[in-house]
Amino acid sequence: MDAQTVRDVDVEGRRVFVRADLNVPIEDGRITDDSRIRASLPTIVYLLERGATVILASHLGRPKGKVNDALRLKPIADRLSQLLGRPVRMTGDALGPGVQVAVDKLRAGDLLLLENLRFHAAEEANDDEFARSLAGLADLYVNDAFGAAHRAHASTEGITHHLPAVAGLLMEREVDALSKLLRRPPRPFHALLGGAKISGKLEVVEALLSRCQAVLLGGGMANTFLAARGLELGKSLVEEDQAANVERIVAEARRKRVRLMLPNDAVVAPQIHRRARTQVVAVTAVPRDQMIVDIGPATRKAYAEHLGKAKTIFWNGPMGVFEVPQFAEGTNAMARTLARRSSHGVVTIVGGGDSVAAVERLGLAAKMTHVSTGGGASLEFLEGKTLPGVAALLPADTEISDPAEDA
Ligand code: ADP
Ligand code: MG
Repeated sequence: MDAQTVRDVDVEGRRVFVRADLNVPIEDGRITDDSRIRASLPTIVYLLERGATVILASHLGRPKGKVNDALRLKPIADRLSQLLGRPVRMTGDALGPGVQVAVDKLRAGDLLLLENLRFHAAEEANDDEFARSLAGLADLYVNDAFGAAHRAHASTEGITHHLPAVAGLLMEREVDALSKLLRRPPRPFHALLGGAKISGKLEVVEALLSRCQAVLLGGGMANTFLAARGLELGKSLVEEDQAANVERIVAEARRKRVRLMLPNDAVVAPQIHRRARTQVVAVTAVPRDQMIVDIGPATRKAYAEHLGKAKTIFWNGPMGVFEVPQFAEGTNAMARTLARRSSHGVVTIVGGGDSVAAVERLGLAAKMTHVSTGGGASLEFLEGKTLPGVAALLPADTEISDPAEDA
């Protein structure tokens, strides 16, 4: 990547503030998917093994500037400690005299986890005072939180004004993998897009139309395209107010000669329920009292065949309401198709919170070329936007001074 990384600096004996993305799903105090924690390990281990002192920080959920006991990082400290095979100490706050006392006690090779950064409204407000106090804890800043890099917050951007800032190993891996899609991906490059709504993904669809040879649509977002063709979709999720945007995308795809594929059959159900009675219908024959909950078997087959021609595949967004097992067939089939293509040397990249969860659940993550830990961040990156957390890092050709030599 075009930024300094931890590998470019001498970290021995330095106090390093590591911003990681440890924002994992937690239900009843238990972590349901620890992939973001595991993905953060290489940088932490790298630093500790080289004699750095690590002050680790993350956000969790949306506490909106208030202390929320359900969003404390304790379960994360426990899991980290299991994975690292050593105790992980925590502070009760990300700020204040207690933190300084805890940091002062640290020695080379020690690790300290700060409490949820977003208990302070100053974090998301990118408050300079807050950024300065975080920076005061360390003499080097490492950003490994790709999933938070699209936000200019105190711990992702503000802090870089006060400390030399370099990328962590996960940040580097994410940026390098996603950059491949923006540079010269092996062709044909096909995108598989799903998820609930087209409204949140207009920009990424438009960006992909400039790079892909085909865009295959599924999930709720495809409904809005089908409705724009005049189809009656019963109780299905359709964003009526997106008709004009959808028409623009269809016209643009035609102009750019990008093939836009839509489902031709669907799994429908009267409601979203795990025991709902389902049936497979053509998209032209969705009963009035039913809703589309998944792509149908003919669509799965057509999409798998079409993806079989691609040399690069990017996937975002589930093909159906995959949280309900009987509506997950389409999503699971696409995950298996990508995994199979990977084993034939095809570049397969998955980005997006729910699509990644689907791949993880099937145990197929390791088969893909890259599974991004950053949902929104990976999409903004593909839109060609500059991510503030990445832009704030030192460019690859700068010299970083050693504080010991300055003294
Ligand atoms: P990602 O997190 O991978 O970017 P999104 O958040 O955009 O994906 O979309 C995921 C959501 O889309 C899931 O909660 C899923 O239930 C929903 N979804 C997919 N297909 C449909 C559909 N046909 N109708 C309603 N919701 C759908
Ligand atoms: Mg999502």
